[in-house]
Amino acid sequence: MNPRLRSARLYEEAQQHIVGGVNSPSRSFKAVGGGAPVFMERAEGAYFWDVDGNKYIDYLAAFGPIITGHAHPRVTEAIVRAAQNGTLYGTATEHEIRLAQALKEAIPSMDKVRFVNSGTEAVMTTIRVARAFTGRNKIIKFAGCYHGHADLVLVAAGSGPSTLGIPDSAGIPPSIASEVITVPFNELDGLRAALEQWGDQVAAVMVEPIVGNFGMVMPKPGFLEGLCKMAREAGALVIYDEVISAFRFHYGSAQTFSAFPDQDAVRPDLTALGKIIGGGLPIGAYGGRADLMEMIAPLGPAYQAGTMAGNPASVLAGIACLEVLREPGIYDRMEAQATRLCEGLQASADKHGVPLTINRIVGAFSTHFCAGPVTNYEEAQHSDGELFGHFFRCMLERGVYLAPSKYEAWFLTTAHTEADIDATLAAAEDSFREMAA
Ligand code: PLP
Repeated sequence: MNPRLRSARLYEEAQQHIVGGVNSPSRSFKAVGGGAPVFMERAEGAYFWDVDGNKYIDYLAAFGPIITGHAHPRVTEAIVRAAQNGTLYGTATEHEIRLAQALKEAIPSMDKVRFVNSGTEAVMTTIRVARAFTGRNKIIKFAGCYHGHADLVLVAAGSGPSTLGIPDSAGIPPSIASEVITVPFNELDGLRAALEQWGDQVAAVMVEPIVGNFGMVMPKPGFLEGLCKMAREAGALVIYDEVISAFRFHYGSAQTFSAFPDQDAVRPDLTALGKIIGGGLPIGAYGGRADLMEMIAPLGPAYQAGTMAGNPASVLAGIACLEVLREPGIYDRMEAQATRLCEGLQASADKHGVPLTINRIVGAFSTHFCAGPVTNYEEAQHSDGELFGHFFRCMLERGVYLAPSKYEAWFLTTAHTEADIDATLAAAEDSFREMAA
């Protein structure tokens, strides 16, 4: 008997109405061997319950935003309050000022902020601002970093650092892709070569300063510092895409993270935000130097707008989420749990002869089914997708929900307990044993 029969039936129905049965491709199980994705009914704390009544420990955290666990009472209370007071005004509110202030205090490179509805919109607009300010068109990005689904950033590497990009998706004109140059992450030679060739046409160098999209990958010492210096020397701006990384590893952004002691050397001009800052409701934000942000309407000639932007529910949920994250010891606890989990996973995998490299940064980590190290996209691609798919399914059977892709991270939340870690380790030990059999 299929323990997820209702999910399977709903998937059949969903496919008749919703393209591919899902509203975001990363929710499908295509990357883990296919079949029906699990249809969830309810979530609370660190747990999901599916439509068949199965319970799971959740390490997806909705691909990052749910850092306080599901339905955190403070966040829920904020959303209920917002709903009772009307969900959308199309006017300015005081709440927006308070969230903007909180972001500015935590991220010192942001003099001014603008709220939008998603990380994609935030990234898209930072590029528009950079182009408006510099009068240049080209963007340099790094292989494997994901910056949302706007045309410009859905572009893959050409055949080398000095070639222009090719579209990563149908429907993107080659003329747009030709404005994007993709170079390898974590080595400065590719960036240097691209800047030597195209430097005077480059509006911005865009990067996930701490990568979350081909696993969790830290920049090597000196990489971000070198990137910022080289971009500035070429007259290009530096854009940090911190849609995943802001408030994930500490209360702040990459610029203020302890791994980068010289804050000025890693200071971006513009930053894109999303996910955590909306407490689980749709949000995005971008911000940066005042003279750059003042390029935006109504002050400047670069246009950006949004009917839903800064809506009270998302903003109040974001404020509540950040309040929870300001409580002392929050990140230390997530780090301690993630450390214990990673050590146990590694020990089990080693014991059963399953190749595993884990990249952990505070309370988030990625499991690469290959020999390490994994420091860039090319190395991350070596992770064995079939092994990961097998592991994913074994864990699902044992009540542990992971992101259905070998590239996605595991996220701890403030809601996970020591008992959850024990249960996950027991499930993993069983899973690795089954995989080795
Ligand atoms: N930038 C990064 C680093 C992301 O990880 C994502 C989404 O996963 C985005 C941008 C796009 O954000 P959204 O899905 O909210 O449009």
